[in-house]
Amino acid sequence: MIKFLDLQQLNLGYQEQFQEKMRLVLDKGWFILGDQVKSFETNFANYCCSKHCIGVGNGLDALVLIFKAYIQLGKLQKGDEVIVPANTYIASVLAILQADLVPVLVEPKLETYNINPDLIEEKITSKTKAILLVHLYGQLCEMDAINDIATKYNLLVIEDAAQSHGVKHSVFSNQSQFSATRNPQPETRNASAYSFYPGKNLGALGDGGAITTNDDELAKVLFSLRNYGSEKKYHNQFVGINSRLDELQAAFLNVKLPNLDADNDKRRSIAKRYLSEIKSDKIVLPTWDFSNNHVFHLFVVRTENRQNLQDYLLENGIETVIHYPIPPHKQKAFPEWNNLSFPITEKIHDEVLSLPISPIMTDDEVGFVIEILNKY
Ligand SMILES: *Cc1c(COP(=O)(O)O)cnc(C)c1O
Repeated sequence: MIKFLDLQQLNLGYQEQFQEKMRLVLDKGWFILGDQVKSFETNFANYCCSKHCIGVGNGLDALVLIFKAYIQLGKLQKGDEVIVPANTYIASVLAILQADLVPVLVEPKLETYNINPDLIEEKITSKTKAILLVHLYGQLCEMDAINDIATKYNLLVIEDAAQSHGVKHSVFSNQSQFSATRNPQPETRNASAYSFYPGKNLGALGDGGAITTNDDELAKVLFSLRNYGSEKKYHNQFVGINSRLDELQAAFLNVKLPNLDADNDKRRSIAKRYLSEIKSDKIVLPTWDFSNNHVFHLFVVRTENRQNLQDYLLENGIETVIHYPIPPHKQKAFPEWNNLSFPITEKIHDEVLSLPISPIMTDDEVGFVIEILNKY
């Protein structure tokens, strides 16, 4: 059986280092916002070419806190509209709502699964103040086109990087000034949200999240907001929440971070094999712009009779997952949106299937998936 993602196996490789770190934390006896969180924040900020990293409880909170911090700074107000791709994971939409902002859904491109920059302008009103980008499945959005729109309309650009740890901007693109995702340009001033949910490219052994930014003012508010709105214990200057990166999770993440680039290389090499060796006219492979370094959190194909393909693969011992079966506007949680029509988004949700991809997949396993698919 080839599991979709074997988290047990993946983490067993770190067993000894994890145990060593646990001993260290136990010896120290400091369990909230201690040395491990501090060093992870430094390590991850450096890794992301960012000035600041703020460790938080999970990816959803990372997004919510960014919006709340901008509200605190007067850069956003309750009721402002935020552009967001219609085919994102529900967390992106929930974060906007939790900050009392209004999500405005925009269709993605069928080829990239990322927001279609050509469809953003028609959704912009006098209330539009931000774009929440989602680098879905690990592929960077079309940053140059989006940055032009953000500049023209003076919009904040916020990145949901929960599926794109380690994705890099081209150093030669001088228009990615709005991106905080591993962008070596120091003048960038937006914020990126990360999740360390166990299945992500950098995964903890539980929940975890982080925000990266080069904006000193924003970082200062975020450090406070995640910890009850206090900078000094029992002195609260903001209405904050409790969403701190856990000390033990930070310790585990410190162990795993040095392997992230190698893990992403492995994902890319599996993706390259899938892309060149899967040959079936019933399966549409994802597109990958080689000028960016897609981190393949997921390898998502499309097919018309998805159930049929998923059953066939399972019968042959290959587990797959659907990301995602129901788009946000069709969820029961949002009855007011259920009649909206987003044909590209709906087509994506009807047809996508994620093949196994992970840093611990063997060449033989990859070959087996390809062989079975080519007999479909
Ligand atoms: C996983 C994920 C999140 C949320 O992260 P949690 O840590 O589970 O809260 C947000 N956005 C996207 C696109 C994700 O994939």
